[in-house]
Amino acid sequence: MITVSDVKQYLYCPKIVYFDHVLHVPKAPDQKLDTGKEKHDDLTGKEKRRKGAIFYDPDLDQAEKLFKVALESSHFGLRGVLDYLIKTDREYIPIDYKFGYSHTGGAHLNHKYQLAAYALLVEDNFGTIVRKGYIHYSRDKINAKIDFTDEIRRRTLKIIREVGDIVEEEIEPACTKNPGRCTDCEYRRYCEGA
Ligand code: SF4
Repeated sequence: MITVSDVKQYLYCPKIVYFDHVLHVPKAPDQKLDTGKEKHDDLTGKEKRRKGAIFYDPDLDQAEKLFKVALESSHFGLRGVLDYLIKTDREYIPIDYKFGYSHTGGAHLNHKYQLAAYALLVEDNFGTIVRKGYIHYSRDKINAKIDFTDEIRRRTLKIIREVGDIVEEEIEPACTKNPGRCTDCEYRRYCEGA
């Protein structure tokens, strides 16, 4: 079973999935994780106190707010823990927190498909259809809306299959075509592509 984070990593660089799931290369301790957890808890606390939701919508005043929602689907071979899920009597709205800047006011590509993977899990776990979701970028306080179109669904399912193939078939994928991404990569010292 792969994780939603694998979907994000695959879009950053497919080789990361190979290092992680096939070669099981140990990761260096990530000090950003502790900071990220603190920021996450801070955002969650504020959102619990807020009358509406993270973005203003009067329809959401009575919505149920669920945090750190563990989701799993044997159908998709996928699991993940969603930061925040809004539940109304009409729909479910998944939200992912990011502690950086948006991409000029919109979502970064890998974040978009990560959220779409969460949307598929929400659909499978709650027997619903998810029509939209948001990525909250804390640095510039942007809520990037993602409409889950048929095209995004198709592309997300394809990515999930491709990640699954790397893990199951142990086929070494190509490196990212963007070498600038190698600079901060935790697998840089093992990788010939760096
Ligand atoms: S160092 Fe570069 S090519 Fe290698 S895994 Fe990291 S991002 Fe990919």
